[in-house]
Amino acid sequence: MGYIDSHAHLTSKEFDGDRDEVIRRAQDAGVTAIVNPGTDLEDSRLAVELADRYTHVYACVGFHPHEAAKAGDGELEAIEELSRHPKVVGIGEIGLDFHYDFSPRDVQERMFREQLALARRRNLPVVIHSREAMDLTMSIVEEAVRDDGEWRNGAQPARYPAPRGVFHCFAGDVGTAWRLLDLGFSLSLPGIVTFKNSASAAAVAASIPIEHLLLETDSPYLAPVPLRGTRNEPANIPLIAAAIGRLQHLSPDDVGRGTNYAALKLFGIGELGAPRFTYTLRDAVYVNLTIRCNADCVFCDRKGEAVIKGINLRIEKEPEPEEVIAEIGDPRRYKEVVFCGYGEPTIRLDALKQIARWVKDHGGRTRLNTNGHGNVINKRNILPELAGLLDGVSVSLNATDPGQYGRLMRLDGPLFFNAMLDFTREAVRHIGHVLLTVVDLEDVDQEKARQIAADLGAEFHSRPYF
Ligand code: SF4
Ligand SMILES: [Zn+2]
Repeated sequence: MGYIDSHAHLTSKEFDGDRDEVIRRAQDAGVTAIVNPGTDLEDSRLAVELADRYTHVYACVGFHPHEAAKAGDGELEAIEELSRHPKVVGIGEIGLDFHYDFSPRDVQERMFREQLALARRRNLPVVIHSREAMDLTMSIVEEAVRDDGEWRNGAQPARYPAPRGVFHCFAGDVGTAWRLLDLGFSLSLPGIVTFKNSASAAAVAASIPIEHLLLETDSPYLAPVPLRGTRNEPANIPLIAAAIGRLQHLSPDDVGRGTNYAALKLFGIGELGAPRFTYTLRDAVYVNLTIRCNADCVFCDRKGEAVIKGINLRIEKEPEPEEVIAEIGDPRRYKEVVFCGYGEPTIRLDALKQIARWVKDHGGRTRLNTNGHGNVINKRNILPELAGLLDGVSVSLNATDPGQYGRLMRLDGPLFFNAMLDFTREAVRHIGHVLLTVVDLEDVDQEKARQIAADLGAEFHSRPYF
């Protein structure tokens, strides 16, 4: 699988004695790419040179807030010129540091704004450093996102793309992290997540979808436990990935895949894997029978990229039951086989039944994740047919009010809301173990959802948005 170290200062003088060895050690440790941000013009040039020498090293160019006051005449133009190099994947690191105040604050702010604009002109992401200046950093970023970036292409008005980027070494709280995600930004967490006294970083690491998180060492600084206090290097990334994995209950491979996808979207580094009929996550195997669905939920990316935690589910052809069975292998290796995918599995009822029967015959456990519309889709009560084939069913409740349900799923609310309730009731009767899941969003009435589940004899599960 491998990991991407999205932030390492390999050009730093701490590596002058053994830079090549450090890069080799990183490769041996499974680091497939390293992004080296620049801190001033000279360092940015070194970063580009290093990226030129190593295929898996990439550069960002820019002025760090510490160095903002050092930028002489024409140096930002030189940064912009440098950013045209094919191994340059971003503008950074830029931002505000009011902890050390090595450059006057007004100069830091001006340089930050100018480099944000530069990144936008060049259609490159930014790598943001923000220390004890989160409020101002956020308001500058929010302002940049709101600005529609109009420019003129001859007589025609045109638009620059919205700014995007990553907050590196993110030190804000969970609320700020989600605000950033809403702005289309990502964040990266260094070895701080392994420190015992890092409750805030741990809370962020636990609650942000893995595909919006990047891994970083911030070498040579911030070595993770148990190497804390030593010179840090990219080969230590697996320690950070393991800590995030523990917080999210994900395997190191899951963390690698999710964070690599975040790096791919941001920097264009690496590639998305081939579309999958089956995939493993935590200790279960998931079956992607179809990406078709009778609904069209406003929050669903089925018609978009259809990627979950870095796994590509955009299948071009639906799998035959035999293909799925061959991929599952021995079902006893997994806690359960889950029919899920990026579509509604009951659309392929026959295939689902055939696979489920095989899994049960071979000692495995099965679960169906569904929108609960299977009886409408198949024009009959399908639950008696599924008795004995499924060990559990999870039905998405989505909303507690039929009108809201219809608006969220873009279908006839009352009709499908009632169909979903009937399906759940029948599932309790024929399958037994039924979970009604609701997304933990502010505008969903959790108490009412809990009551609906209780009335139907189903268990209730409130899950995070991702
Ligand atoms: S029911 Fe599920 S698969 Fe269908 S559109 Fe909604 S979220 Fe997507
Ligand atoms: Zn840095």
